[in-house]
Amino acid sequence: AFRGLVLTQQDKTVQAGFQDIAIEDLPEGEVLVRVDWSTLNYKDGMILNGLGRLVRQYPHVPGVDFAGEVISSDDPRYAPGDQVILTGWRVGEAHWGGYAQYARVNADWLVPMPDGLDGAHAMAIGTAGFTSMLAVMALEEQGLSPDQDGEVLVTGAAGGVGSVAVSILANLGYRVAASTGRADTHDYLRGLGATSIIDREALTDASKPLLSERWFGAIDSVGSTTLAHVLSEMKYHGVVAACGLAGGPDLPATVIPFLLRGVRLIGIDSVMCPYEKRVTAWKRLAQELPMAQLDAVTTKVGLRDILPWGEKILKGQVRGRLLIDVQDC
Ligand code: NAP
Repeated sequence: AFRGLVLTQQDKTVQAGFQDIAIEDLPEGEVLVRVDWSTLNYKDGMILNGLGRLVRQYPHVPGVDFAGEVISSDDPRYAPGDQVILTGWRVGEAHWGGYAQYARVNADWLVPMPDGLDGAHAMAIGTAGFTSMLAVMALEEQGLSPDQDGEVLVTGAAGGVGSVAVSILANLGYRVAASTGRADTHDYLRGLGATSIIDREALTDASKPLLSERWFGAIDSVGSTTLAHVLSEMKYHGVVAACGLAGGPDLPATVIPFLLRGVRLIGIDSVMCPYEKRVTAWKRLAQELPMAQLDAVTTKVGLRDILPWGEKILKGQVRGRLLIDVQDC
């Protein structure tokens, strides 16, 4: 048996507790992985607190991401000893996830560890950082480049998606404006390479369809009035990658920025992202995200201490990324 965090439901309330789990209890799958590292994403916070109807069946092992070593495999692509990463595919929601010392999953969901990365750094990146890279790739696919005049805006900048996005963009040579609601993160964001800091409150007025042109690109993890405001401030032909809803799932905007400025709004999905694109994104993360900066945005905790952090992330109180030592439970 091994240890893991198990969610159970009683009278519509979700409860979390650590239990011994037998290998035979794991769901079906081709690859058995010893999980060394996991992480906490915003979605994990929702799942740990029973929100969003993301989990439909209990008992459930949460944890949407993990990294570890293959113990056994029925699939020729993986062999014992291989280091692997898993993010998305609704693992930790519809399937048992990474908050237990072993996981059994489909081979199609795994990505081999790229050169230059280890399990701890992969999970310091996690779905949040992987999403940041997908957003950067989306801006590039739309033709954005660091030689353009002006700044790229990142909202929710001190959060997980935001911190990694600031770091990647700055490292690629973009000038980055970081928007945050937390005054105590300004030095942290400048350390990641932000060239200017914008107060979150300055981006919440959604009442005007067009404002002065400010940004040629934007990565938004907030949604709602913030995204509406950002759309109205995009330069002619500017591109916005919509990644998140930390401020709400609504979008109280008009079509005016699309019609008068040719603004492009691109959706980013990390969960069902196809394999080839995943491999490219992980290779680029291994090469283009400065590991010293990643270490600076990462807080490490043992799995045994995860529960209070699940509440903190929902309140926007987690700075950067959380790395979970899964064997510590
Ligand atoms: P996180 O670490 O909690 O970061 C979210 C940040 O948003 C917070 O740190 C805060 O930044 C800001 N924020 C929070 N509440 C806000 C509010 N009411 N108004 C304005 N700003 C607010 O979470 P994360 O893991 O980075 O995820 C960010 C978002 O992206 C979540 O909505 C998540 O569901 C989504 N996401 C989507 C995908 C995808 O595939 N599309 C993948 C991963 C995550 P400051 O403190 O700097 O203001």
